[in-house]
Amino acid sequence: MPMPKFRKVVILGYRSVGKSSLALQFVKGQFAEDYDPTIENTLNKSLMIGEEEFQLQLVDTAGQDEYSLLPHSFILGIHGYVLVYSVTSLKSFLIAKVIHSKLQDRRGKGLMPIVLVGNKTDLASQNREVKAEDGKKLADTWGAAFMEASAKDGEKCHNIFTKIIEEIDRVERSFGDE
Ligand code: GDP
Ligand code: MG
Repeated sequence: MPMPKFRKVVILGYRSVGKSSLALQFVKGQFAEDYDPTIENTLNKSLMIGEEEFQLQLVDTAGQDEYSLLPHSFILGIHGYVLVYSVTSLKSFLIAKVIHSKLQDRRGKGLMPIVLVGNKTDLASQNREVKAEDGKKLADTWGAAFMEASAKDGEKCHNIFTKIIEEIDRVERSFGDE
């Protein structure tokens, strides 16, 4: 068996959009109701995609707003990003745009695999403020992947983190680095 491929991914987004809930649902398979919102935590999980084994390290950040500066630790040695907003919060969608432009400034042109996630779809029938269509359009302008999800839905969470691993491989291949 070849060595597992190591991938380090940072989860970014406005506070309360469900960054920790998505990560914990993926890693532990449960919906955590009240997780400390200020905590920055690193989670590890190994998974198979097809025939390949990956060791995924997830940095669950405390969240960003329009004034946040992205620290070096979110840039150096990071393979990709899961950028989360809530479909119930237009503000969080606007913040996602701000975070993306700051990321681009810091990383320059080139490799930036991203999955944009519109979370909390289970609340969308009552409280939707961002259309799926608008999330998809935004991701398209970035050349990023897009999906909607709910942290209560284990399969959706699994798809997010499988997708970012696939995006990292896709983007690296398209730049001919590997
Ligand atoms: P973070 O600050 O982005 O890490 O957000 P959290 O994961 O701490 O979630 C903030 C709040 O939203 C908590 O009360 C969560 O239980 C709740 N939450 C997170 N994701 C979802 C979701 O998909 N659906 C619903 N209904 N609530 C969610
Ligand atoms: Mg959190």
